[in-house]
Amino acid sequence: MPENASETKLVNFAVANGTRRKIINFLGNGDRSTREIEEIVGKSSLNFHLKILKDAGLIELEEEAVKLSEYGRNFLKGKKESNPEEITDFSQAKPIEIASIRQVLPCIADASRLRISANITPPLGRVLKLLVTLFQRSSYSDRKDSLIIQKGEIITTIYGSGKVSIRMVKNENEAKQELERLKSTINEAIAKGEAPAPREKVKVNLMEIYKHLPQTNCGRCGEQGCYSFAIKLMARQAALELCTPLKEPEYVNNQEHLEVLVNYI
Ligand code: SF4
Repeated sequence: MPENASETKLVNFAVANGTRRKIINFLGNGDRSTREIEEIVGKSSLNFHLKILKDAGLIELEEEAVKLSEYGRNFLKGKKESNPEEITDFSQAKPIEIASIRQVLPCIADASRLRISANITPPLGRVLKLLVTLFQRSSYSDRKDSLIIQKGEIITTIYGSGKVSIRMVKNENEAKQELERLKSTINEAIAKGEAPAPREKVKVNLMEIYKHLPQTNCGRCGEQGCYSFAIKLMARQAALELCTPLKEPEYVNNQEHLEVLVNYI
């Protein structure tokens, strides 16, 4: 604990720098070697930053081993409690691996395509939310703790628990390629240790929305038909949930496509 004004100043100075905050967050997940920290924040000025953190009493440094001091642990705990939702970088995340594909089944909506389940380790937990900016067509759901990523017809859902489901793939190979693509995109962001910049705006057009609606013109949404409903969605005058037929199993893929698309309107 800083006991006087000059010690408080040292701590404030130490945590005012983004690289040093990144190091503290990284150590929050366990003790590290200087080499591991170097991989996260780079070699340049590493010793300088470690010295400042040590002088502030936030870390303990013994040869190559670095760990949070008791004060450092309390500091990090206090920071999380005061703002539990804030995750500003990937420093607490570890690179992911794709564990084996667990299940291959025909798609409910299109039996000529497959849906495949897999696992990623370690689970991404709260970092998952940040990944939404990495993929051009994606949407994050707090309620389901899931990230839906759309690429062409393929829909991938990653859950905070580590479970992954890929739908509408032609074969197992295509699923493996897609998983590899996701893995390298995510690991690249984790290696940089920073939240990605906001993604570019995706242009959504009326026909694309209409194409994914059930097109039965049942009127349950309160509109004359699907085309009118698509116009309302485009004008942000209606919510997707009003189209209740989308909840039926045969429209599961359409619903996920639309959930991503309406984010960009
Ligand atoms: S409820 Fe859905 S399927 Fe029925 S008319 Fe409206 S948009 Fe079309």
